[in-house]
Amino acid sequence: MWADTGCPSILDTNLVPGGACYSAGTGALELGPDLIYAPDGTSSATGRHTTFNKFVIAHEFGHNIQYTTWGNLSLPDYECAGANNTMCQRWTTDSHCRCDFVKTGNRYHCLQSRQLQPWAETEGFAHFFAANLMNLATNNSCTFIYYKDYLLPDGTPHKPPNAVPCFYNSGPPQMWMQNKCAAGVASMSADGVTAGGVEWAWLTFFWELHNRGGNAYSSNDLQHVCQWACNGNVTSLCASAKVFFDTVNGGNSTLKYAAGQLFGSAKSQYFIDTGKKHGINVLQ
Ligand SMILES: [Zn+2]
Repeated sequence: MWADTGCPSILDTNLVPGGACYSAGTGALELGPDLIYAPDGTSSATGRHTTFNKFVIAHEFGHNIQYTTWGNLSLPDYECAGANNTMCQRWTTDSHCRCDFVKTGNRYHCLQSRQLQPWAETEGFAHFFAANLMNLATNNSCTFIYYKDYLLPDGTPHKPPNAVPCFYNSGPPQMWMQNKCAAGVASMSADGVTAGGVEWAWLTFFWELHNRGGNAYSSNDLQHVCQWACNGNVTSLCASAKVFFDTVNGGNSTLKYAAGQLFGSAKSQYFIDTGKKHGINVLQ
């Protein structure tokens, strides 16, 4: 783990630079020196260092665990990166599902932005890893502390740290994509992707899937579902794979199909039902 090094993959001098990241090539966790925010959202040389947040550190460890045990789920371009600071504006015109409002960190992706689904899945898993570490599985509540700006349901930005629910003991999940971002979506087909996703939905999906019910998925189960979707076995790592919960045409490389191949009907149905409940899959 490297502190105060800056995160090379998300350095962006036009936005708040630096931050924390996992560098797959070197296996390093890098906690950058630059992600410092003031309460008004401006970058500042003083104030609390965001990467001191234990959730951020645990999140980056989550990327490490996922990469080393599941494999590489990368896509050619990084999440919402784009020319001319069009961060997370590529795939929707709806401000609820972009990162324009983020002032306290990079805008490559954020908790509520519409993303290529494999990226939402990867970030959602890292959020889940942190939430799972910091919450008791048996509690009827789960709180995830998010280190960047967050949109309240009425669309008002809220400065971090943001306490966000990661389990819904009663009532439906937030279904952010379906409830807030249905309009103005753009095709991801140029990126070879037919389904989008939101990090927050994948966070709550993984948490409930792992911690609730008689058919809960262990860490190994989660890993194996992904490996099966990539390779048709549970021994090989994924290699730069685009993994989806489901696709427009379905198929045998989806997580949904893999769960059906690996587990009995009740457990595989639990995977499908929980995915749908949390709205993790948004087809185009
Ligand atoms: Zn991450």
